[in-house]
Amino acid sequence: MKKLQAPRGTLDVLPPDARRRLEIVSIADEVLGRAGYEPMETPVFEDTEVFARGVGESTDIVQKEMFTFEDKAGRSLTLRPEQTAGISRAYIEHGMHKLAQPVKVWSAGPFFRHEAPQAGRFRQFTQIDAEAIGSDDPSLDAELILLLAEIYERAGTGATRLRLSSLGTPETRAGYLKELTRFLRAREDELSDEVRSRLGRNPLRAFDADHAGTQAVMKEAPLLIDRISAEDAEHFSDVRALLDSAGIVYVIDPTLVRGLDYYTRTVFEFESERLGAQAALGGGGRYDGLVEELGGPPTPGVGWAAGIERMLLAAEAGAAASAARVFVAIARPDAARDAFVLARRLREAGLRVETEQAGRSMKGQLKQAERIGAFATVILGDGIDVKDMQTGDQREAASIDDVLEMVQEAAPA
Ligand code: AMP
Repeated sequence: MKKLQAPRGTLDVLPPDARRRLEIVSIADEVLGRAGYEPMETPVFEDTEVFARGVGESTDIVQKEMFTFEDKAGRSLTLRPEQTAGISRAYIEHGMHKLAQPVKVWSAGPFFRHEAPQAGRFRQFTQIDAEAIGSDDPSLDAELILLLAEIYERAGTGATRLRLSSLGTPETRAGYLKELTRFLRAREDELSDEVRSRLGRNPLRAFDADHAGTQAVMKEAPLLIDRISAEDAEHFSDVRALLDSAGIVYVIDPTLVRGLDYYTRTVFEFESERLGAQAALGGGGRYDGLVEELGGPPTPGVGWAAGIERMLLAAEAGAAASAARVFVAIARPDAARDAFVLARRLREAGLRVETEQAGRSMKGQLKQAERIGAFATVILGDGIDVKDMQTGDQREAASIDDVLEMVQEAAPA
């Protein structure tokens, strides 16, 4: 009989993990609730057009990643790849523009994208999503960023990097894309084959290229952020001033592109320093044309989506790193004082460190290092050696700084 398994790119969430997810959702409920965001839910599948029109026909999501199927009446339906289009559709359908504006809502639930699965990337994943629809006040952009930063902090994801930019309006963006394409065409022979072949479709990708020649060209390329209107630039500077006054640290990244067409003005993305290739923890921005695009009255909006799986991965990586230990072994009778000083030094660097304090033999000390689950043992003998407890590799360190570096290299991610 065929062995039945969860479909590729999906996860069974077993009890301890399922509880952690609930905890993250309740952190979001509390943090967002205090700022007036109310829970809201939309269906897990929608008329395909909601996403085709909302997210944009030419995006990777709509072109390649949607789970689309027909119902028995032949209607094309799609499992939602993101939340904002569905919420905007519901905002229009229920005449929510008649309520006091902005309408502030949040939700949590499953989303579906047909991507190649890898660590941190799934075909069914879970997002928390927050939206403020019906006002273009820059304080909403800043507020939403602050709230997301607070959720990350309380969820224990550790240090995050925040990248911020402004995309202006669809008109200034279209003008800019023409200018960028002209610029790239003029220097076509310096670009990689891949960038050149995509020039017509997505010239912005050139900013992410690894190819040295392309990178050199892109250093001189025009930037969208220098082409947005005076009004949009002022909006952006208001958002930044509010973030500054709240002490939020960010970098302006003029090459920040998000994979959805509806963004206007502010865009942002949080990345974890603890995650590998799939480091994006969450992001969002303003979408002042989306409600109208979906058939509603002209209505500004701003929001974000944050992946729960990635938050948990970042939090777990942090827990593993903070639980990880270093053992400082004493291989020469008069090294106790050096061990004492070195342990202090390593603890200052944030490591959990224990030293030999029971007069054990070298063999006994290594056993003790194993017992406490040390990932590295620093051995103070004639020189200083660092032993990677995973691989068994032992190397001599040239200096105390070198010890620190070698220990950090051996540390679990
Ligand atoms: P996006 O709107 O595409 O930037 O997605 C928002 C957030 O959802 C990302 O920053 C990730 O944390 C998460 N996310 C997006 N796609 C996936 C996926 N395929 N698997 C897991 N998490 C995802």
